[in-house]
Amino acid sequence: MKIRSQLAAARHWVFDLDGTLTLAMHDFAAIRRALEIPAEDDILQHLAALPEAAAAAKHAWLLAHERQLAQAAQPAPGAQQLVRSLAERGCQLAILTRNARPLAQLTLDTIGLGDCFAAADIIGRDEAPPKPDPAGLLCIARAWQVPPTALVMVGDYCFDLECARAAGATSVLVNLPDNPWPQLADLFARDCHELLGQLSAPGQPGSDLPAPLR
Ligand SMILES: [Mg+2]
Repeated sequence: MKIRSQLAAARHWVFDLDGTLTLAMHDFAAIRRALEIPAEDDILQHLAALPEAAAAAKHAWLLAHERQLAQAAQPAPGAQQLVRSLAERGCQLAILTRNARPLAQLTLDTIGLGDCFAAADIIGRDEAPPKPDPAGLLCIARAWQVPPTALVMVGDYCFDLECARAAGATSVLVNLPDNPWPQLADLFARDCHELLGQLSAPGQPGSDLPAPLR
């Protein structure tokens, strides 16, 4: 139960965007096919290693594709309520995404949360090395003048959790039917709605969440 009271008291929250605050829309297999990226390669790393002209053309395709996704974004269950509730409690809120910052802003506007995040607190792939590198989280902690251990990182993928671990932040996994990475997640909630419930009533009996690992 300790982790839940810790989270209820947390004032510095960082969210992954795609698949965490939005319904997952990225078809990464289709993106890899369109950009001729091998299935086992990381998309951003692959593009970064290409000659400049080829990388530029593929980045342009990716941006156009992601813009369409951003315009069609839908909020994940409970995401709006969770973010608004944290904002009302006076928490500082940031986004750490492998997407580009302008597209993250467009996505947030589309799902009605654009007013909850300052532009400087949206860290995209051009502002810091992408997750699982912890640099983005460390940069947010510096900007907020808190130790990285004060941060809570909420995401839907192992990169989010690995990034939190490497920075010393608390990791929360959401939006999966069960937890494939128990060694990386300090807390698992099926969605943002369930996470908000945990914050509002930490340690309430009747919860069927798995016990946190530390
Ligand atoms: Mg995600």
